[in-house]
Amino acid sequence: MNALSDLQATLDPSRRSWVESANDSTNDFSIQNLPFGVFSARQNDARRVGVAIGDEIVDLAALQAAGLLKLSAAKTDVFARDTLNDFIALGRETWRSVRVQLSALLARDTAMLRDDAALRARVLVRQADAKLHLPVHIPGYTDFYSSKEHATNVGSMFRDPKNALLPNWSEMPIGYNGRASSVVVSGTPVRRPNGQLKLPDQERPVFGACRKLDIELETGFVIGAGNALGEPVACADAEAHIFGMVLLNDWSARDIQQWEYVPLGPFNAKTFATTISPWIVTLDALEPFRVAQPVQEPAPLAYLRHEGRHAFDITLEVTLRPQQAKRASTIARTNFRHMYWTMAQQLAHHTVSGCNTRVGDLMGSGTISGPTDDSFGSLLELTWNGNKPLELNEGGTRSFIEDGDELTLLGWCQGDGYRVGFGACAGEIVPALK
Ligand code: MN
Repeated sequence: MNALSDLQATLDPSRRSWVESANDSTNDFSIQNLPFGVFSARQNDARRVGVAIGDEIVDLAALQAAGLLKLSAAKTDVFARDTLNDFIALGRETWRSVRVQLSALLARDTAMLRDDAALRARVLVRQADAKLHLPVHIPGYTDFYSSKEHATNVGSMFRDPKNALLPNWSEMPIGYNGRASSVVVSGTPVRRPNGQLKLPDQERPVFGACRKLDIELETGFVIGAGNALGEPVACADAEAHIFGMVLLNDWSARDIQQWEYVPLGPFNAKTFATTISPWIVTLDALEPFRVAQPVQEPAPLAYLRHEGRHAFDITLEVTLRPQQAKRASTIARTNFRHMYWTMAQQLAHHTVSGCNTRVGDLMGSGTISGPTDDSFGSLLELTWNGNKPLELNEGGTRSFIEDGDELTLLGWCQGDGYRVGFGACAGEIVPALK
């Protein structure tokens, strides 16, 4: 056995776990997944690094203390931490070594932990008894705009349907520097922002609560290996700099945005909150779901070219549950594979100027909209700027988000008998400050 075949074995679709809940083909956290997060528990409120398996979490700090997880890196004290940054900084060989060891330890035929009840009690925590925290310290957050369908829809609505895509859009992954300080983990309430609103019948703006509060269905990738200032990341090398992916809701105040965005792009319309899912799914776990990206025409400039397949087949859903409703309504279904610009191209473009990135930096994909009108990744598009309200199962209709609404993003790759999923990325809207 060598390191690569060990890694390949972690992706074997027939591998099953003695943690039975992980073997349900609709559970996000199969033994093929093994995503990383930070949690605390009722019994022990210290934050530490964990890996999700079925309905449980493996406490990596406890596993390491029990001698069942070995790191060859010089620095090994990285799991009793309130973020993943120290672990991530050890590099890809270490991420892979931990994945390989966990996969073997949790496999159905491995008795070591399976048959030791006292050890299991120390190392496994039920997700129902745990609180999940923001998994990384995020030094910087960038958001892209890489769905052709989304950019076309927004351009049609805000500018001109005949020239919906500006000429630069097809030449580079358009992006802007977002606000890292307001990235929050799933489950954190989100306050409706106040700001300047420009009403069409008035010359000057009014100040008040956002009336067109929206989601943006996105994924994000987390930088696992930064680049030095002045040293761009080549497109072909870019994926090696990525630790993994999360679901990301880029909450957006459309009325604030429409007034403020000229000429420098969104500011307060986006800075009030960005929600991410708590588990980071590694690119290694996503490998079996790699697919071809859309054909790019015109062919990109040389620094944005890469060989092979760089998109991923990730099913995405958005649900909305009004405060009093028992059931959520699914309001959109789409797939990450529709994205025009790849994560590798985004990172190559981001750094081509010499801009450095750091471990934990978060890069949003941009709103992920599919080709059909039930596959759009924002209410702006789903309701066509409020002109076609959505019918909910319970709770009436929606043009934009109302106070008390809970919005949830879901995402998963469906394998043969197993799922590599992200868990929920949810947030409930609370009323604006008076
Ligand atoms: Mn966005």
